[in-house]
Amino acid sequence: MEKIDIKSYNEAELLEYMTSLGQPKFRTAQLFKWLQQGVEDFDQMTNLPKPLREILKEQCYIANVSIVKKFVSKIDGTVKYVYELFDGERIESVVMKYEHGYTVCISTQVGCRMGCSFCASGLDGLFRNLTPSEMLAQITKAQQDNGIRISNVVMMGMGEPLDNFDNSVKFLQLVSNDNGLNIGLRHISLSTSGVVPKIKELKGYNFPITLSVSLHAPNDEIRSSMMKVNKKWGVDELLSACREYQKVTTRRISFEYALIEDVNDSDACADELAKRLRGIMCHVNLIPANPVKENSFKKPDMNKIIHFKERLIKKGINATVRRTLGADIDASCGQLRRKAMEEKGGGC
Ligand code: SAH
Ligand code: SF4
Repeated sequence: MEKIDIKSYNEAELLEYMTSLGQPKFRTAQLFKWLQQGVEDFDQMTNLPKPLREILKEQCYIANVSIVKKFVSKIDGTVKYVYELFDGERIESVVMKYEHGYTVCISTQVGCRMGCSFCASGLDGLFRNLTPSEMLAQITKAQQDNGIRISNVVMMGMGEPLDNFDNSVKFLQLVSNDNGLNIGLRHISLSTSGVVPKIKELKGYNFPITLSVSLHAPNDEIRSSMMKVNKKWGVDELLSACREYQKVTTRRISFEYALIEDVNDSDACADELAKRLRGIMCHVNLIPANPVKENSFKKPDMNKIIHFKERLIKKGINATVRRTLGADIDASCGQLRRKAMEEKGGGC
């Protein structure tokens, strides 16, 4: 019998399961709390009777991640982890300290099938989806390892969260549960490359999260050359889904724009971008593109990046340049995992 991924159960599912074991209702609340707060072993659940713990051990497993590599920035204390999953797959997470608290950047898939040309995560395609419990475990492990409470989450690590839609939605429901990690949805950002039908589906949940859209180009010609997802859902369709999303959720949308020299950093690009975003309550996050070993693109120099930002601001678009954290341990999305898998001699 395949074991149950019990940490991915919400309270209703857990209640149904515990009732099937003949357990009283209050045990569900106790178990849910232990699981969600990151206990990794049923024997540590000291308020559960031993015979129940034995049944749970037999029928269920608690999804966990183990630290295989850890890099700590000497500049700002940013911590990057390579975690190993139960099947030997590896993912990345980053913990950053801001004035308002700690933010963790989590992965949602092992690899990614979207294949953006500038990103290391997609170089080998998708290996598998992460479960809600594996997304939660990245947070609880980072909390335990650093002795901190994480207050903000960004779903911006490896993978496309909207390509793992059901698990990402369940994760959002679990992580914000009062009896769990209780991280408010307003403190969570979900980043997508623009899977339009799923943006529409997400709108139906009306979560007060921040939707972060990786736009990176103002038109189809440039965007399709960088992101193959754009061949399926072009800029017009994407921005129209964003407008609808905003109408329903009333949340400001964040547009990510990784600047690549001579690709998307011209004045004409800034002007076209400003024009297309007009009327959307949004913020543009400019990111100096992070060079990937397997690619030849370059980031523009800082003057050019600031010039691009100011041109957007002059045209009424709210824009900032993303602060670089952990510059001394830098490795963009997916690079750490590839390196760790190569060293292990397996995987990719
Ligand atoms: N798949 C989702 C979330 C993970 S990627 C998405 O694409 O939005 C998180 C962010 O990192 C995205 O905005 C992505 O475009 C960006 N990114 C990936 N590789 C990068 C690189 N080499 N330099 C700068 N940003 C990069
Ligand atoms: Fe996947 Fe996002 Fe990387 Fe594109 S940028 S390959 S969608 S992780």
